[in-house]
Amino acid sequence: MENRMAGGCVCGAVRFEVDGDPMFCSNCHCRECQRASGSAFMPLMGFLREAVRISGEVTYFTRMADSGTAETEGFCPICGARLFAHAEAYEGVFLVRAGCLDDPSLYKPQADIYTSSAQAWDHMDPNLPKFPKMPPMKA
Ligand SMILES: [Zn+2]
Ligand SMILES: [Zn+2]
Repeated sequence: MENRMAGGCVCGAVRFEVDGDPMFCSNCHCRECQRASGSAFMPLMGFLREAVRISGEVTYFTRMADSGTAETEGFCPICGARLFAHAEAYEGVFLVRAGCLDDPSLYKPQADIYTSSAQAWDHMDPNLPKFPKMPPMKA
């Protein structure tokens, strides 16, 4: 497999490149991912922060998660595409949205997370493990 994933936003102002494979790949069905995407879930890839190189200007928006810790979303200020996220609770982990990859077929989901808020019209792969909230993280 090609070891370098790359991608960008809709307008092309923000580009990124990633070294190595993701630590995890999860489809997140939480309400915030639904709101942020306007859809049923967000396909998330978790990388070490230093593995992701970003070019272009990214606007970051921080909110309080249900855990009471800060979560930050990164989006393109021009086209609004949401590319990145990181959470205070998972320091050092940088999330990249798989739909922003130049080749989204590289994304191999390993789990469905926050399935407690998944929608009835959201058809999940029955073969993937399901977690009602966050899965236990192995650091
Ligand atoms: Zn853009
Ligand atoms: Zn989510």
